[in-house]
Amino acid sequence: MKLACIAPVGLVEDDVLAEVEMAIRDRFGFETRRLPARPTPAGWFDQARGQWSAIEFMKDLVASRPPAATRILGITSGDLFIPMLSFLFGQAQLNGAAALVSTARLRQEFYGLPPSRDLLMARVRKETLHEMGHTLGLIHCPDRSCAMCLSTNLEQVDAKLDRLCRACAAAAGARMRSLTEADGE
Ligand SMILES: [Zn+2]
Ligand SMILES: [Zn+2]
Repeated sequence: MKLACIAPVGLVEDDVLAEVEMAIRDRFGFETRRLPARPTPAGWFDQARGQWSAIEFMKDLVASRPPAATRILGITSGDLFIPMLSFLFGQAQLNGAAALVSTARLRQEFYGLPPSRDLLMARVRKETLHEMGHTLGLIHCPDRSCAMCLSTNLEQVDAKLDRLCRACAAAAGARMRSLTEADGE
């Protein structure tokens, strides 16, 4: 079994982490291990933007991947940015070891709406599959219902399904089979 480590950074609810683990076990066949939660360094916060630097998260994830793990997936409730984009639902290294998902903008509360656990979990599954898919070499998919379809807003996240289309699933399966233990790069 190929091991993927789940790395909660900052405060992340247990049921969100469990949902992430279930998604990458069921859809990709990873074995999962949860790393101890660590605090988010204050230096990663951009005061002017009121957001967290995804670049800092990614550098830290790459550096903290346990040798036995082929992939590491960071989960944060912080709102992420990179200099070119006003926000990110997540980020990943294409064909690399590290992926990152933020739950900040997957919550109804972020938009001033009443919380919905079901919506949050469905969105978490979709974005987890999307970012982990990139680490398996998948690029954006033209199928609007595929989890690999690009979503730059929440409507697009909600429009897709928490699964991969046949072509993406086949490509991910082939990449999973070709992964060697600790195949990080
Ligand atoms: Zn993407
Ligand atoms: Zn697809």
